[in-house]
Amino acid sequence: MTLAIQSHTTNDAIHTDTVVSYLQKLIQFKSVTPQQAGAIDWLAKQLTDFGFNCEQFTFNNVTNLIAKVSFGDGPRYAFSGHIDVVPASGGAWRAEPFSGDIIDGAIYGRGAADMKGGVAAMLCASRALLANVAAKKGTFYWLITSDEEGEAEYGSLLIAERLAQQGIQLDGCIVGEPTSHLHVGDTIKNGRRGALSARLVINGKAGHVAYPENTINAAHLSAEVIKRLTSITWQRDEPSSHTSLQITGINIANVVDNMVPARCEMTFNIRYSHGYKSSDIKNEIQFALDDLQALLSLEWERPCEPFYTSHQTRRCLLTQVEQAIFNVTGSYPLLSTSGGTSDGRFFANDYTQVIECGVRNNTIHQVNEHVPINDLLKIEKIYTQLLEQVFSRIS
Ligand SMILES: [Zn+2]
Repeated sequence: MTLAIQSHTTNDAIHTDTVVSYLQKLIQFKSVTPQQAGAIDWLAKQLTDFGFNCEQFTFNNVTNLIAKVSFGDGPRYAFSGHIDVVPASGGAWRAEPFSGDIIDGAIYGRGAADMKGGVAAMLCASRALLANVAAKKGTFYWLITSDEEGEAEYGSLLIAERLAQQGIQLDGCIVGEPTSHLHVGDTIKNGRRGALSARLVINGKAGHVAYPENTINAAHLSAEVIKRLTSITWQRDEPSSHTSLQITGINIANVVDNMVPARCEMTFNIRYSHGYKSSDIKNEIQFALDDLQALLSLEWERPCEPFYTSHQTRRCLLTQVEQAIFNVTGSYPLLSTSGGTSDGRFFANDYTQVIECGVRNNTIHQVNEHVPINDLLKIEKIYTQLLEQVFSRIS
């Protein structure tokens, strides 16, 4: 295929690096969570060259980067991203997974779509922004971590805490996760459902199977518990955001056939609508199992709060993302809150609109993860338009 290679001009240098070479470079860092493997050092170097001030900090092997550039008084927007990737061992890859090789017009490699592609595109867009700051206002942050695919305990959470300590309140945050479905820009996420896991132990009473009247069968009770958990009506669901509870494991360690089991361990996970907080979800579950409480012990794990960004009348980032996508693709995006959790949740609050917008997600975490070069050029254009709009003095 023929490729239009773009070149960017700045005041003092002509850059020949393109979004393609940036992405290839990023893929070549073997930054499997939580290792940054040089990727964040390299990004910080590029951003410093563009005019950003960079602060890097490492905690429990997780490296985070806060980069900042200011054009004077005005709105504060951030780009949030991660350079860590899931492992790429095994499977029939068409290219070495950390090569960034181009095959049939697409760049192959672990992280090509999730989400080094978004990072590379935003790097080009940021360079274009910094090349002409005369009519700009506001402050732009890059918030990058090496721990998104893992537990996310020391990544964007710590970045958000550090911003809060410094009294920095963001007006908006763009997350570069791959959100598109069939075409770049067809879907963006203006929120994510919450997630919560639970470990439930049913404590019955063992005894001979021939005398069940003297026992409490934990296996039978587990059926009742599952029935109740899966028939809860989630009243606060919204058409675009449904709650679902899935049982993820049941274990009854009983090795003999003449004994009623006393103990059943069960795990379940809930993905819940932004109409709820995790405390509401816990209350609903407790209520459904109320009369069984004496036989149950319940522990909650891995809570991820939901977030949701709606339109606002003044300086609306959501509208500006929709507009930038329309300008580039000719269509407005679908708004979605589906999929797993994302780091967007750490930056969303009453003041900060959080929108996720990136390339297609059809190959993420898979063997042969790749991103077509045309898709990459399109998301670069969308980001460039967006930055131009949000920092414009005239807006
Ligand atoms: Zn991701």
